[in-house]
Amino acid sequence: MTFLGTRAAVKSYGPTPALRGVTVDVAEGEILAVTGPSGCGKSTLLHCLAGIMRVDAGEVVYRGRRIDTTSEGERARLRRTEFGVLFQFGQLVAELTAAENVALPLLLAGARRRDARTAAMSWLDRLGVADLADQHPGEMSGGQQQRCALARSLVTEPRVLFADEPTGALDTLAGEQVLGHLVRLAREQRTTVVLVTHDARVAGYADREVMLRDGALDPTGLGLTAVRS
Ligand code: ADP
Ligand code: ADP
Repeated sequence: MTFLGTRAAVKSYGPTPALRGVTVDVAEGEILAVTGPSGCGKSTLLHCLAGIMRVDAGEVVYRGRRIDTTSEGERARLRRTEFGVLFQFGQLVAELTAAENVALPLLLAGARRRDARTAAMSWLDRLGVADLADQHPGEMSGGQQQRCALARSLVTEPRVLFADEPTGALDTLAGEQVLGHLVRLAREQRTTVVLVTHDARVAGYADREVMLRDGALDPTGLGLTAVRS
């Protein structure tokens, strides 16, 4: 049974397709890097896999079921309960503290305030930023903010984490720290990760790599696929 994947996914924004029939499979528990040059369709593929965007043709499958043809409500439920997303930068709510930011997805899911706060503190602790719990994003470094954002994307314990250039706005050291945490926590939680990056060093953290070029899988990139666990 397919855990997560696309079958001949096609997506266009205008006359030129951003995805021209992409078939990828993500195994449960693996960290898959989606790489390729800017504009090749990586983010589009991630958005389609995560149910954020609909494919024009082809299929998106999650746990053996098509999710491209399900209702918007069902996809919203999946995004809330089974999927987590981590974007490049600046996703924290500026008016909230770190702990409030991390607690937010749980509060939106109906958790009690106290339980949400406890879970948020525990995740901040696991990311080494518990001491920042009462600070606002504007008072933190980029790396600290991204660690809080990672805590927020994991606090609901998603089965799949979609990370789109999660270190794109960070310097090398801060980026490596965030990636180190991401990979460690994904292994601990058995979270499947789809990691979009144009950076070969970042892709080196993944178990496997697929490369896109002009909206299609690059067979030479596939030839370089390696298991690095
Ligand atoms: P085939 O395998 O039938 O030769 P192509 O290689 O032309 O098809 O295209 C691969 C996939 O991309 C197909 O699913 C096709 O529908 C889609 N596709 C190709 N070109 C476009 C386009 N300009 N706009 C939208 N979809 C396209
Ligand atoms: P990548 O993540 O690899 O940089 P994207 O998936 O963001 O690639 O973009 C693929 C192609 O689709 C690019 O040519 C890009 O310009 C185009 N594109 C992406 N998003 C949009 C959009 N919202 N509207 C129009 N074109 C878009």
